[in-house]
Amino acid sequence: MSLILPCCIECQQHFATAKNEVLILECFADGRPYRITAGDLLQCPGCKKLIVSGFGREPVSTHRDSDFDHYLDRVDFTIPDAAISVEQWHRPKKENDNDSE
Ligand SMILES: [Zn+2]
Repeated sequence: MSLILPCCIECQQHFATAKNEVLILECFADGRPYRITAGDLLQCPGCKKLIVSGFGREPVSTHRDSDFDHYLDRVDFTIPDAAISVEQWHRPKKENDNDSE
């Protein structure tokens, strides 16, 4: 877990840990389960908004793993079409010499 907690700009406060180790299911755009990640559930003491942060480097399990169904039963939150953003996240940056300073 990171020592520096995320902060709520609107309330000018740090989020506080509400629950450790929640499981997030990310799905493909067509709804099929893709992978499960673990993070900490944080809440803003002001506006009570909830976020999940403090993810590990690797997912807990992916749809190709034999233990996937075991974790699927314990999922706390679902992101329905995460695969699109995950794909963009992992896309290598283009080397573009024209933009160099
Ligand atoms: Zn807030």
